[in-house]
Amino acid sequence: MNVLFDPDIPEDLKEELLKTIEEEKIGEICKICGANTLYVAIIDKIIDVKCYECGYSYLEIELSEE
Ligand SMILES: [Zn+2]
Repeated sequence: MNVLFDPDIPEDLKEELLKTIEEEKIGEICKICGANTLYVAIIDKIIDVKCYECGYSYLEIELSEE
């Protein structure tokens, strides 16, 4: 899948997120609508990986801040 990042996501998180998305084996297209783009949003400290087209959420990651 192509991955679009919310502009608020810190640059140094992106590589790690791409790795995590890869490990989830989401596949090449959305199982709901068949789109091939993921959108990575950030809300407070939660990363939400969802389909860019239909908004189906594939993955939520809580950021720990130490
Ligand atoms: Zn979709």
